[in-house]
Order: sequence, then structure tokens, then C-alpha cells
Amino acid sequence: MSTETTTRSPYSRQNPFPGRLVVNRRLNPGSQKDTRHLEVGLASWGLSYEVGDSMAIYPSNDPELVAEVVKALGATGEETVPSSGKGDPLPLREALSKEYRITQVTPKFLKTIAQRASGAPLLNELLHPERKADLDNYVWGLEVIDFLLEHRSIHFTPEEFVGLLAKLQPRLYSIASSLKAFPDEVHFTLDVVRYESHGRQRKGVCSSFMAERVEDGPMPVFPTTSKFRMPEDGNTPMIMVGPGTGIAPFRAFLQERKAVGAGGKSWLFFGSQRESCDYFYKDEWDQLQREGYLARIDCAFSRDQEQKVYVQHRMRENSAEIWKWLDEGAHFFVCGDAKRMAKDVDAALRQIVEKEGGLDGEKANEYIEKMKTEKRYKRDVY
Ligand SMILES: Cc1cc2nc3c(=O)[nH]c(=O)nc-3n(C[C@H](O)[C@H](O)[C@H](O)COP(=O)(O)OP(=O)(O)OC[C@H]3O[C@@H](n4cnc5c(N)ncnc54)[C@H](O)[C@@H]3O)c2cc1C
Repeated sequence: MSTETTTRSPYSRQNPFPGRLVVNRRLNPGSQKDTRHLEVGLASWGLSYEVGDSMAIYPSNDPELVAEVVKALGATGEETVPSSGKGDPLPLREALSKEYRITQVTPKFLKTIAQRASGAPLLNELLHPERKADLDNYVWGLEVIDFLLEHRSIHFTPEEFVGLLAKLQPRLYSIASSLKAFPDEVHFTLDVVRYESHGRQRKGVCSSFMAERVEDGPMPVFPTTSKFRMPEDGNTPMIMVGPGTGIAPFRAFLQERKAVGAGGKSWLFFGSQRESCDYFYKDEWDQLQREGYLARIDCAFSRDQEQKVYVQHRMRENSAEIWKWLDEGAHFFVCGDAKRMAKDVDAALRQIVEKEGGLDGEKANEYIEKMKTEKRYKRDVY
């Protein structure tokens, strides 16, 4: 993915559009997770994007964390430091807020700490290339501020310090709306990353920026085009597997099909923890079903019973019907967690093709590969 969308506007990846956050609604009150539905106004941009695309969001860091880092450096924040890119030098506080990554550490930063700290023999040892896995384990859940507070005797000049940091990068979010249904807007389904490690509350940089810090301020956005596209023919059936925030592009797909009155049947597999609080957009799915744009929705609520149930289980329970849809030429889409879900769904799909298609392992693989080359099996996983 990720070729730049061309528009005639002055906006670009280097100069993203200042979107306005107009809706920030919790989708799962009462849940252990915090998932938000966000709507961002794009009026006056005149942009175009397609359903299936993602938006790059350009966050700034948490001001409280920036203040803590400035304090730990013994700086005022007004010191001038180089930009992380080609821009002019700027005050340290602004640079730490907008340009540099101040959460996850870089190898350069760790090496400098190890060289200068008298009491860091473990870190010195872990920096040997053959201990890479142990080093990753050691730094998991630790941030720049932890090292600054642990090694207060090390003095960094502001310029030297920013030279040890990486550039703050934008994050991608699947677009959860269709311009045909919501002109001048883009919607997102956002999981807010929060966790505790080493006795501190931590926040994901961009998800907390979007959920907690944007408010009336601009949310810099720019679209990236994707190959995660709906079938060109609106009559083609679609099977969409989107647990958690993976649901986002399918909300956009279904809005688009409704907006153009496309007649192809659609089947959604959704999964989350509990039906009572984590069934995102239920009203919208009910309405789409009533209107005939969503033929089926099958949900897996993992924590509603003793045995965990996931989307791949729902797929296996419906294997004959899924095979029938595939045989009719359905396109198969997966979006969401790459670490486990996408692999489990892929394995379930292969089993269904073997069992229902009467194909042995090799022939089932050929079938799946053919689906991929024919662009009937598409994944957008992260
Ligand atoms: C194509 C694409 C589409 C995407 N679509 C969506 C979407 O629609 N909705 C959505 O919510 N996200 C989506 N994402 C993910 C999103 O881009 C971000 O990665 C996510 O929001 C986290 O970013 P962050 O800046 O909040 O967290 P970061 O500041 O990047 O923090 C995340 C990091 O924190 C650390 N960490 C996290 N949890 C723990 C823990 N428990 N213990 C220790 N360390 C931990 C890890 O190092 C992790 O890499 C998508 C990603 C891609 C690539």
C-alpha cells in the first residue's frame, strides 16, 4: 500500500490537511477496552479517497510527557535545537512535541546511556548483537523518560539529546466511511492504546492524541491509497472478516454499496469481547440488514462464554455456506490484527476450501493462491 493520493490541493504528506474533529464517541462504554468512533471534518479540502484507503494521522506528543522530559534534561524548553527534517531550528519543547519520538528508545540513545552510565553493566551486555532478543525484551514497556530518570547523572545538551531520537512518524488508520455517504468527512474506528509498565501509565502517541488531545485543535491528516478495494462489479458477493477495529473499512464498503444501490450480497464476520458493550455499530448493521445491503452478520463474542470463541470459529461453523459464496465468485476480505487473527482466519479459510471443495492440501493452496492472483482474497492487517 501507500502511494500518495494525488489531489490538486496544496496538501500533501509534507503539508497534511488540518482536519477538525467533530465527533468523538465511545463505542464500548463499560468495556475493558476504549474504542472510539471519530468523525473528522475535511470541508474546503476538496479531497478524494476511495473506500479501502487509510489516512495517515500526524500526531504530537503528550505535553505532560514533553514537560517531564524537558525537566529531566535540566532544560527550559526554549533552547534552540535542529529540526528532525529539513525545517528550521526550533525550540526544544516544540521539537519534542511535534518532531521527535520521545516514547520508544533508539539504539543510539541506548548506546549513549550504556557508555556514560556507571551503573549499567546489564545494558552494556545486552547491546551485543547476539543479545538482540534479550535487549528487545528488556526495553519492552520502557520509554526514553525511564532512562533519563534512572540515569540522572548523565548530562545531555538539548541538541545532543534530540540527535539521539528518531523522527516522530504518522500512523495509519483505516477509513470507516464513504465520501458518497459522508462528503467532506472521514470516519475512524480507533482503539485507544493505554497500558501500565514499570509502574507508570503509558499512552500510545497517536491514539491518545486523536482520542484525548485534539479536541478543537487541528488533526493533521492525509490519505494513502490502498489495494484493499471492493470488487468493481457491485453485483459481486463479498465476505468480510473484521473483528475489533478491523470492522472499519467494511463500514465504508457497505456505505458505498448502499450509496450506489449495488445489489451484490454481503456477509460480515465481526468479533469482540462482549456483546453487551463491544458490539460496535450494531444499529447500523441492523438497518443495513433491513434495507437489504447486508445479507448476513455472524458475531463472535470471545468472553460471553467459558470457551473463547473467535471469528474463525464462526467461519468453520458456516463452512458449507462460505464455500457456496466462494463458488459464486465472492471476494474474501480480512482486516485487523496481523499477529494472530489474520493467520487463524487464513487457516480456517484453507480448511473450508479443503473440506467443502474436496481438495487436498496442495490443491487447496492452489485455490487460495488463485483467489489472491484474481484479487479475490485481500487483507489489510496491522
Ligand atoms: C494499514 C493500517 C491500518 C490501521 N487501521 C487502524 C484502525 O482502523 N484503528 C486503529 O485503532 N488502529 C489502526 N491501525 C494501527 C495504528 O496505525 C497504530 O499503530 C495504533 O493506533 C497505535 O499507535 P499509537 O501511536 O497510539 O501507539 P504507539 O505510541 O505507537 O505505541 C504502540 C507501542 O507501544 C508499545 N506497547 C503497546 N502495548 C504495550 C504493553 N501492553 N506493554 C508494553 N508496551 C506496549 C509497543 O511498543 C507498541 O508498538 C492501523 C495500522 C495500519 C498499518
